[in-house]
Formats: sequence, C-alpha cells, structure tokens
Amino acid sequence: MNPALPQSLAGGSDTIVALATPPGRGAISVVRMSGEKALEIARRVVDPWPIEARRVTLCRIVKPEHGRILDQALVTSFISPDSFTGEDLIEISGHGGHYVPALLMDLLISHGARQALPGEFTRRAVLNGKLDITQAEAIGDLVDARSDLMHRTALSQLDGGLSRRIMALRSQLISLEALIAYDIDFPEEDDGPIPRERIGSEVDLLLIGLDALLATVPFGEMIREGAVIVVAGLPNVGKSSLFNALLGQSRAIVTDIPGTTRDAIESFLETGKWPLRLVDTAGLREAADTVERIGIEVSEKYLGWADVILACGDTAASLSQVLDALEGKSEARIIRVGTKNDLPGAHLDNDLFDVVTSAETGQGLSDLVSSIDAELTESVGGLVVDTPILTRSRHIHGIRQARAEVADFGKTWREEILPAPVAAVHLRAAAVALESLIGAVSTEDVLDRVFSSFCVGK
Ligand code: GDP
Repeated sequence: MNPALPQSLAGGSDTIVALATPPGRGAISVVRMSGEKALEIARRVVDPWPIEARRVTLCRIVKPEHGRILDQALVTSFISPDSFTGEDLIEISGHGGHYVPALLMDLLISHGARQALPGEFTRRAVLNGKLDITQAEAIGDLVDARSDLMHRTALSQLDGGLSRRIMALRSQLISLEALIAYDIDFPEEDDGPIPRERIGSEVDLLLIGLDALLATVPFGEMIREGAVIVVAGLPNVGKSSLFNALLGQSRAIVTDIPGTTRDAIESFLETGKWPLRLVDTAGLREAADTVERIGIEVSEKYLGWADVILACGDTAASLSQVLDALEGKSEARIIRVGTKNDLPGAHLDNDLFDVVTSAETGQGLSDLVSSIDAELTESVGGLVVDTPILTRSRHIHGIRQARAEVADFGKTWREEILPAPVAAVHLRAAAVALESLIGAVSTEDVLDRVFSSFCVGK
C-alpha cells in the first residue's frame, strides 16, 4: 500500500465527505458523507433527526454551536450495508452555488468527517463488495460518456456484463486446472484418466473465448475515444467548409487564403452510429514557412492515427493530387469526397468520387456521414452484439496476458515439454490475470490505478 495514503484506503471506515455535484451555480448540490461516524455527525447537524432510512426527508441543516440554520435540504440516510459504499451513508441535497455547499462541507468536516479523495466512495464500494472493479470503471465511463455507444457500453458493463464473461472464462480455467490436477494424481496410468485430447480441446475453447473478447478491442477504442476522421486535401479545396458544414457550427476559421488552417482542429461529432473525432489538418502541399510546416507535420501525425480519411478534391486534378500525397502515409480507409459541387460548371464525376458534396447547399453531407459509418462498421467487422466490449487498456492487457498463458500451457501440454505440474503454472497465471481484472485478488496497486482518474465525490 502507498504509505502516503490515509489508512481508510485500505478499507477502514473513517468518515469521508465530498461534494458529489460540480461546484458552481446550480439549483441543487449534493453532499455525500460515508463511514463509521456518518450517522453520529448527521444526528448533530440534521433537524429533525432521526429520519427514516432510504426515505427523502426535508430537513434543516443546523450549526449546533449557535443553532444557526445553514440550509434547507432533502436528506436521505442509508444504513450499512444497504448503501452505495456499504457503509452508513448520508446524502444531503441542498441548495447549489458556491457558498452553501462550502458551508455544509465545513460543518461536516468540523464535526469529524474528512474530505474524500478522488474516487474514494466508489473505492469503498469495491472494497465492501458492492461493485467489482470493472463495474467501478463503468461508473467512470458513464460519467464521461459523450455518445450513445459509450453510454450503452458503460451501462452494460455496470450491469456486470463484462464481469460475468470474465468470471465464466475464469471458471473454465479452474475446471481445466482441476482436470490437470486429476491427471497429476494418476501419473502411472497409461494415458492418465483424462484423455489428452480432452484437455487440448478445453484449451481451444478457452482461447476462442479470450479471442472473442480481444476482437472487440478496435470497437472499444472507437467507442471510448471516437473514430479519428481526418479531412485532407490541397489548400482551398473546401476542407474547413466541409468540416464546419459537418459540425453545423463555425469552429474552424473558413477563409480563401491558402494554408490558414495552421494546425489540426478537432471536434467531437456524433451524427451517425459512431462517435467521431473530426480533424481538419493543414493542406498537404510542400510548405515554405515554418508554421505551415508544423501544420503539415501535425497532419501527417493525424494521418497515422486516422480511421477514415476524407480525401477532398474540388476537381479531378485536385483529388488525384491529394490521393498521390496520401499514398503510403496511412492505413486508414479513404473516402474520395468531391467538394463545392454547387459551383457553376462543377460537374464532379461520380466515378471518381465516392460522395459529392457542397458545404454551401448541404448536398451529400448525410450521404458522407453514412459512408463514414459504413467504413467504420466494416473496419471493425460489424457491431459486436453479444460480446462485452473491452474499452480500457487495463482490460486489454489482462485478457492478452491470460491468452498468452493459456497458449503457452497448450503448447507445453501438447508437446509434453514440461511435466504437467509445471505446465499447470501457466493456467494459474492466466487465472490470476483474469482475477485481477475483476478485483477477485484486488491488489492496492490495481485499485490505485483504477481510482486515480476519478473525481472527488464519486
Ligand atoms: P480549405 O483551405 O481546404 O480548408 O478551404 P476552405 O474551406 O477555406 O474554402 C476555400 C474557399 O472555397 C472559400 O472561399 C470557401 O468559401 C469556398 N468554398 C468552400 N466550400 C464551398 C462550397 O461548397 N461551395 C462554394 N461555392 N464555395 C465553397
């Protein structure tokens, strides 16, 4: 355990308090207090008291030293173990703003509560068995969700979808360990009591299950981070205008002077199935001045990250120039976008372009969004319906580790390189990798990593 952290982080229950809503002007603010002395402190400052547990009651919050009323609030008490943290917990929904919540916090702290650390409420929920770690992460994802897919994935993870899948794989692993143990107990029998192929096929099943989870990785990344869509093209072909038209707002400065989009401008967009990070980069021409060169470096960096590139051209010639410039710079899928199709004389040839648009009239914009969606869906192999999705590097790392151990076991077993008890060590290591994902063997280290990104009051 990190010696710098208060003892409570190891699961003790000193009483913590935090503002659970963002500070600032608002109708309501919620102050949460959890721990051994929560009821005791509430008894001193909440009037009337006691109140019925799990029932919202209109109360006055009073500074007992002078009987001064600090706020009128809706107070709810939750008695251990029936609370979010599993401890005695009080929620005070008082008035918002800066002053009143600060008064309430001061009051509770002066009566013995301590300001909570980021994520400390959820951490206690995990330590008290109310949630497992992947569910706690899902709470973080839910709070951070910016799109429909992020929201749905987080909710399903909170509901335990991923945990159940990991538990199922773990129990498959443990059955396999048991089979091996049985085999070890009967070494002198010819083939052992367990046919070797049976163990081989159990290993294959496990690998299939682990691979199915790993196959969701690109999907998870796109859900969490948004798919990177880079708008590319020569200066002045209408990239910024297209970018703005897609966003429906003026973020990039649109201009007819070549090369004023100095750096990449990025915006989050969700109009279709996928959350999109739309990136407008500098033109892909040879740069003369330094700023422009930096702009181009940024664009190349983004091209490397891109999931889809919108290669823009207002003529057949400018399209072919951008396609040449993109050659070998990215693995991304490319959509050939015709721009400015409203201009008199602009008859963009549908064979050269995948989508023909006009930022001016809005022509082709919804077709463009559909094409982006289609390319993304194809690149991740369709929406994965039944499999829980790996959205975090912690999950990906744990599942990869388990897979590597199972594969190593399979190899040693088949090739009889090592005696069974030694080969079985790989299975144990695989089980431990899965267990650490759901916190079955939660080390302080894992907890620290998970909760470091939380905000205070969660
Ligand atoms: P970028 O350098 O590729 O980002 O190009 P801009 O978006 O700044 O556009 C360059 C010029 O083309 C500006 O004068 C725009 O007004 C004009 N333009 C861009 N898109 C359209 C369009 O769809 N129709 C018309 N008529 N003009 C456009």
